[in-house]
Amino acid sequence: MTNRIVIDAETGWNTPRKPGHSPPGEDAGPGGLPPKESVAVAEFSHVRRFVVMTPRALLSLVLASCVLVLLASSSSCASLPGDSGAARDVGGVFTAVFTWFEAAVEYMFGMIAGGDGGGKGAKGKRRAAITKNRGRTYTNYQVLRLRPTTDEDVQELKTLEDEHGLEFWSPPVKNGTSDLMIPPDVSEYLREYLQDRDIEFTVLTNDLEAEIKKQNPKPKSKYSEKLLKTDKGHPLTWARFHRYKDILDYLDYLGSTIPDLVKIVTIGKSSENRPLKVAHISSGKRKDAPAIWIDGGIHGREWVAPSTALFILKQLTENYNTNKAVVDGIDWFIMPVANPDGYEYSHSVDRFWRKNRSKNPAKRYEDYYDEARYGRFFWGDDAETCQGVDLNRNWDFHWKEIGASSSPCKPTFAGDRPFSEPETRAMSDFIMDRSDQIKAYLSLHSYSQMLLLPWGYTKQNPKDYDDLMYVGRKAVEALQRLYGTPYKIGTSPSLLYPTSGSSDDWAKGKAGIKYSYTLELRDKGTHGFLLPASQIVPTGRETFAAIKTIAKHVVNTSD
Ligand SMILES: [Zn+2]
Repeated sequence: MTNRIVIDAETGWNTPRKPGHSPPGEDAGPGGLPPKESVAVAEFSHVRRFVVMTPRALLSLVLASCVLVLLASSSSCASLPGDSGAARDVGGVFTAVFTWFEAAVEYMFGMIAGGDGGGKGAKGKRRAAITKNRGRTYTNYQVLRLRPTTDEDVQELKTLEDEHGLEFWSPPVKNGTSDLMIPPDVSEYLREYLQDRDIEFTVLTNDLEAEIKKQNPKPKSKYSEKLLKTDKGHPLTWARFHRYKDILDYLDYLGSTIPDLVKIVTIGKSSENRPLKVAHISSGKRKDAPAIWIDGGIHGREWVAPSTALFILKQLTENYNTNKAVVDGIDWFIMPVANPDGYEYSHSVDRFWRKNRSKNPAKRYEDYYDEARYGRFFWGDDAETCQGVDLNRNWDFHWKEIGASSSPCKPTFAGDRPFSEPETRAMSDFIMDRSDQIKAYLSLHSYSQMLLLPWGYTKQNPKDYDDLMYVGRKAVEALQRLYGTPYKIGTSPSLLYPTSGSSDDWAKGKAGIKYSYTLELRDKGTHGFLLPASQIVPTGRETFAAIKTIAKHVVNTSD
């Protein structure tokens, strides 16, 4: 059967972007399928700069001449400056150069024929609209849940990501479910494509932008926020998802009001220089107390994870009297936001941002090709590369073996090397220094309502799998006693998909922490990452019940 999906190869590219700058195809989704018009306008804008003749323009002329000479003589041409690797497939770049020149010639003829040369006509207006719209919007974006049943289907679906740049929220697996976000302009084709292949699907969300607007209630007013801070001493509520600044205020509040119980430790700085903070809870009642580590928000868009970590922090500190049993015998290390840059970016620019925001240093061939395609390479936007590393693929244990990407433009980019990121380095150094003390490593994510245990990188189970399953089952039973929320327990390859370089695998495999779990919190996809703020408290309560159960077990087994 032929592939009937019509995603224009011209525009089916992942478009690198950065805040405050609008690359061609600003309206494109993470899938990077920019509207044709946007690309055209962007190309024309480069042509205008061509007229000014910057030094880079001259360079492009030289290179273009080189292309012509190459074609005439079939001799080898110089490699692209700054990256000898790019020369490996110079042919592709030449194709892009010709595409560009074609556009330039078309444009020149357009100008001569009395077209829009000054950028003040319709195209100019469109360009202004593209530039003005800095945040990524998701109007009429849908989320489909797919259920592929054969290996062929899975392979087919993978091409949607690899070749067409669509973004899976969970990758396709045989006889499993997989959530795919799609921009409105491919919706019709994609449905046809799935129906042709008999791949079952349901629509989870029809308009992501509408859901985004509903998720997080705004504070009533600046005044009420101030009042809250004066009354309570901090601005945090459990009625909405707060910005990182509020979270830091809360940590400082705890550290200064209950200093005998809570110490706030700065363990490093993020790639954008935000402080990475851990709350260390210790009542000092037990000498050499075993410890439990909890982190939330390794992935920016999973907002319920930081809010749950903060909820648990509150229970263990402000509600110490109720929870003495698990505080007096145990030290707790809680890092509510492990990826503050990604978290902030998901609030301010792109709601579905997953990675951190580090600038990927080494440009790859694909980046050059991409830039050449849009003319950027020749015109000086050389800072324009895909940003961010998936902080749950960057840990130094079976790094990048499976379920991780080598491309900086992909959401699961593993980084250039293990622990390339300041966030994972800070966390792993801190944990490693206390690896004898820490008896359980717990990482909070969302969504899918699962308790995952190692290994992620292989289908083989760890030797003490039964112990981990036993404690895991007890934890889930406790969780379900509150609201009956269904949870699955198992390894990532058995329940979801294989992953490598993840924090839970590292905690067990390298730091030697026996009880290492990843909790995929609410929900199962009805709201997905856009879980309503009204579920912060129930999610916090049930997760705390599960974690208390794990904690009690740790106390019993580590004596
Ligand atoms: Zn996650």
